[in-house]
Parts: sequence; structure tokens; C-alpha cells
Amino acid sequence: MKAHDTMYIGGEWRPAAGPGTIAVVNPATEQVIAEVPAGTAEDVDAAVRAARAAFPGWAATPPAARAARLAALRDALAARTEEIAETVTAELGSPLKLSRAVHAGTPVRVAASYAELAASYAFEERIGNSTVLLEPVGVVGAITPWNYPLHQIVAKVAPALAAGCTVVVKPAEDTPLTAQIFAEAVHEAGLPPGVVNVVTGVGTVAGQALAAHEDVDLVSFTGSTAVGRRIGATAGGAVKRVALELGGKSANVILPSADLAKAVKVGVANVMTNSGQTCSAWTRMLVHTDRYDEAVEAAVAAVASYRAGDPHDELCRVGPLVSAAQRERVRGYIERGLAEGARLVAGGTETPHDTGWFVTPTVLADVTPEMTVAQEEIFGPVLCVLRYEDEEDALRIANGTVYGLAGAVWAGDESEAVAFARRMETGQVDINGGRFNPLAPFGGYKQSGVGRELGPHGLAEYLQTKSLQF
Ligand code: NAP
Ligand code: MG
Repeated sequence: MKAHDTMYIGGEWRPAAGPGTIAVVNPATEQVIAEVPAGTAEDVDAAVRAARAAFPGWAATPPAARAARLAALRDALAARTEEIAETVTAELGSPLKLSRAVHAGTPVRVAASYAELAASYAFEERIGNSTVLLEPVGVVGAITPWNYPLHQIVAKVAPALAAGCTVVVKPAEDTPLTAQIFAEAVHEAGLPPGVVNVVTGVGTVAGQALAAHEDVDLVSFTGSTAVGRRIGATAGGAVKRVALELGGKSANVILPSADLAKAVKVGVANVMTNSGQTCSAWTRMLVHTDRYDEAVEAAVAAVASYRAGDPHDELCRVGPLVSAAQRERVRGYIERGLAEGARLVAGGTETPHDTGWFVTPTVLADVTPEMTVAQEEIFGPVLCVLRYEDEEDALRIANGTVYGLAGAVWAGDESEAVAFARRMETGQVDINGGRFNPLAPFGGYKQSGVGRELGPHGLAEYLQTKSLQF
């Protein structure tokens, strides 16, 4: 077994200050596959000091040279595609095919986009008699979740590096092995020591120490709203910048004129991907009452091809959930939905396998907007189908949660879909099945968060302005 007992700080692999470790468990087999150090405040402090020491040099590195390092990071990640995919499958449980295409593939695209942006971005602008300099914010603390373990890291580190910031990453305790591979890629890419540091550890110890560290200038967090709220409060108290990418309860709005079969099929795929552990998933499908039964039938038919099974099987489309706790949480929501009057049309709480933290892909029909399953983030392979009476009703339901991260609209006519999307309180909307764009800003309205990731908007988060008047 490969050694995982050190952390990447100041350009080298160092043992942790304390003796604690975290066991990494394969959610499909329930077997321990590795142990990583449980970093403490002392390790976080060492990493922040390394990042601080590296900051002036990296900030002064010309953008073209920063771009060259980002291009090298892109290549180092691309060269590790298979290792990344195997590792994500082992510690998260996502199907190998998805691990290759998305978990390993998307970070390469995002790193590539920031290699280009670093080279082309205007870090200086003219406004009237002023020259405005866009300067790096400083040392970034990045706290990331397990659901897209490499993407979430790269979506923070790549723009931070492009901006000229240095970073300390605290990855999720459930997926630290992917973060270690990322650190190896950073090293191979020739980033100067201390520019990127990775401290493994648990959230309440290492995460909290990073969020509260007085020498961190910006905290970028992705995860639950509960933790995000606390991090926002801590950052506010210290008057430091904060970016929060939190939960979602996105709506897939199928207007009466839509190609219903396609909208349902794509909608089901969207929810089942990554076992439903996607913050931007369209977990509420909204269908006009006249076409409701047809839609439920189509959803049941579509979900039949998503049987939860061995993620190493090339044909597998749904793996287990990341942890036993997550499975219990999701089953609890299914039970709650049924208790509140939803109708089970596919799946349910019964476990499909004796071993592994699986949940059977589930469809709940007759879900009404006030039900818990229509309001709270489930984070599992559970689709809720709701009915609406007219367009105003659909809009009220779509906007009727505390969240606003993503969504979809389907209509016979693109302009009809766009008109509806304009009225949605959410950060991203896919029109008639629009494709993922790694340059489009990603982030939330309302309690889905503060700030944006990806593309030039994501880069701007890591910059501050200085105006020179002439
Ligand atoms: P979480 O607890 O918010 O974890 C996200 C990150 O924050 C992890 O690195 C975590 O460390 C760390 N953390 C936890 N407590 C912290 C604290 N007090 N101070 C600083 N950092 C802290 O989320 P989770 O437990 O992984 O998942 C719970 C729920 O969050 C999910 O069911 C889902 O609803 C939501 N979620 C949303 C997203 C998203 O992309 N928006 C992603 C994942 C989860 P540990 O790993 O050690 O806990
Ligand atoms: Mg947690």
C-alpha cells in the first residue's frame, strides 16, 4: 500500500505534529483502504506560514509565468487521469466511468481555463483619470467537500493561483486521497514551495483552525449551509473575505410545450449522477398537471436503468453513497417524504446490497411544495416530482425554497424557456438541456451561497482593487 502518512506543506511531505489519523473507507466494500494524518491547528499554522512566506514572490510572478505553471498543473493532472479516477471511485464510490469523465476530466478543463485566463486577464484597467490595479487578495484558506473531491479543490486553487494568491487546502475527511494526488501534481508542476499546501484533517479541528486563522485573508468554503453559516460568521468577525458555495434544491421546470420525454430523461440522469450527491442537482421536477401522470411514468421508466451496484463495473451508473451517515440521512428523508404524503413510485428505503452504503434510486410522486423533501437538500438518488397548475404557480414553486443554486427549463420554444429562466431566483439555468460550461460563473442566490466560482468571475473573487488617480 502506498504511504499516505504525510501532508504537503512548504513544498515537502511532512509528518503531522500530532499522532491522530483518519481512516479512509471504501463505501462500496466498507473496507479501510488507507490512513491519513488528522492535521491539527499546529499543522494548519505551519501551512499558513508557508503560504504567507510564498505570497510576495508568487504575487510578483508575471501572469504569463503563473499561466505556465497552471498549464503544467493541467498536464500533471491529465497524466494522472486513471489514478485519479481509481482513487475517487475507491474513496467516494462513484462509478469508474463517471470518475474518469467528470471527477478526473473536469478539473483538467478547469485548470486549462485558468492557464488561459491567467495569461489573458486584464489585471489593470483604466477608469476616467484612474488606473485600477487588480491585485491578489493574499493567503487563501480553501475548505472543500467530498462530493466532487478534485473539482472542488481545483475550482478554488486554480483561480487563486491565476490571481497571484497562495493557498492552504483542507479537503474533506472522507476523500483525502484525491487531495494527496492533487498535491503530487502541484509539486510536479513546479509551483514554488508554499504556494499550495494541503492539510488533511477533520472539519471541526483543521477546518475550523483554517477558517479562524488570523493570517488567512480569504476563506473559500464549499459544503453544507450549517457549516457555511459558521464560517461566514467567523470571517465576518475577523473582517476577512469569504466565499461560500452551499446547498441547493434546484428545480427542473418542464413547461407544457416541452419535449417531455427528453426533459424527464435528462432530468432523471441529472439527479442520479454521482448518487445524487451534487449540490446543483435538479432534485425537484415540476410538471404541468395535464402531463403529470405521463411524466411520472416516464421518470419511473428512466430510473429503471439506474441500478445501484459495484462502481468498478464498467456498466455501473449509480454507486453507493459516500458514508453510512449519508445513507442514513437519505433514507430518513425518503421515510419523511412518505410520512408527509408523498407516493413512492420507484426505489425506497430497502438496501439493495448487504455490503456498501447503497440507496436504491428513488422517485417520489405527489410531492407538494411545503413537504420537507421539497424544501431540504437530500443529497442522494431521490427525485421529487411536483405538479403545477399554470406558469405563475410553477414560478412560485421553483422560487419557493431558501436555496437558489441551479435549475433547468424546458419549452418547445427557446425564448419561452429563457423568459421563464429570467424570473428564476437562481445562479445557473440550463435551457432545454444546455451543456456544462466551465467558464460560466457558478454560485448561489439566496442561501445557496456568496460569491462565484469558475471562469473570469471566479478569478475576480481572488482579486482586490487599488485605484491610482492621475
Ligand atoms: P460539511 O460538513 O459542510 O463539510 C464540508 C467541508 O467543511 C469539509 O471539508 C468538512 O470537514 C469541513 N468542515 C466541517 N465542519 C467544519 C467547521 N466547523 N469548520 C470548518 N470546516 C468544517 O458537509 P458534509 O458533512 O461533507 O456534508 C453534509 C451535507 O452538506 C450534505 O448532506 C449536503 O447536503 C451538503 N453538501 C453540500 C455540498 C455542496 O457542494 N454544496 C457538498 C457536500 C455536502 P469534514 O470532511 O472533516 O467534515
Ligand atoms: Mg462534515
